[in-house]
Amino acid sequence: MSEDKFTLETVLSVKRWSSNLFSFRMTRPAHFRFTAGQFARIGIDVDGEMVVRAYSVVSSPFEETLEFFSIVVPDGAFTSRLQYLKEGDQIYLEKIPYGFLTLARYQQPLPQDLWLLATGTGVAPFISMLQDFATWQNYRHIVLAYSVRIPDELAYVDKIGEIQSMFAEEDASFTFLPIVTRDPLAKLNQRLPKLILSGELESAADLKLKADRSHVMLCGNPQMVEDTKEALKSIGLTMNRRGEGNIAVENYW
Ligand SMILES: Cc1cc2nc3c(=O)[nH]c(=O)nc-3n(C[C@H](O)[C@H](O)[C@H](O)COP(=O)(O)OP(=O)(O)OC[C@H]3O[C@@H](n4cnc5c(N)ncnc54)[C@H](O)[C@@H]3O)c2cc1C
Repeated sequence: MSEDKFTLETVLSVKRWSSNLFSFRMTRPAHFRFTAGQFARIGIDVDGEMVVRAYSVVSSPFEETLEFFSIVVPDGAFTSRLQYLKEGDQIYLEKIPYGFLTLARYQQPLPQDLWLLATGTGVAPFISMLQDFATWQNYRHIVLAYSVRIPDELAYVDKIGEIQSMFAEEDASFTFLPIVTRDPLAKLNQRLPKLILSGELESAADLKLKADRSHVMLCGNPQMVEDTKEALKSIGLTMNRRGEGNIAVENYW
């Protein structure tokens, strides 16, 4: 891997959400331009070798710094080291961003209702999109459903509240639906595919999933992505290909 594809950036802050989740902010070089929803490739030195992983950008394209949200996989080559990241550390950033989980991919149907469905760290690209004025100008209704196993894993809830008070209502309505699958007392505690098939997700959002008006983005756990895709197809939605169709996905592994 050639290191001239990367720049070396400085970690500005680290925030720990739980034992296995943290976020970090780092410097953003002027050349690193991205669209909300895209991911960066970041690298660290592990025993003299650069290990690189894909990370969705959490921060908006208009911010001066870059923020990322990370899981800790205890035996993961990357995150078992990354978890010790601290202010002042250096991290490699590939010069160009990647990915097609962006709102620009949708041509038909025209934007009306946007459903952002995430598990775990898969909420990252959606936090970026929700901080982009264009998202609020283009859609009439926006729903963010964010599924985790236990309440401690619900990161960014305050940020989502801030986003809601800053952007929602003027142009589009916003519904935030936290889902906690291992909490029997949570308002929503079933997996996303089940919530779709039972109609509970639509009831909670007070909005219908419809082929002629819904854009649905799925991000995170590949099993969730696969099962949710099938659930959506069974109620008449289609995969977005060459701009047409409802469903766009990003698998994290
Ligand atoms: C397009 C894209 C964007 C991504 N964005 C993010 C992001 O914003 N934040 C993030 O934490 N990860 C993200 N990932 C996953 C990330 O690239 C790494 O897989 C993750 O950092 C773990 O690296 P690792 O070397 O420690 O473990 P790996 O060897 O890469 O993974 C080991 C195992 O850990 C599990 N795993 C990996 N990633 C996750 C995860 N995010 N949540 C839960 N379990 C996981 C899987 O079971 C996987 O098989 C993204 C992946 C892709 C393809």
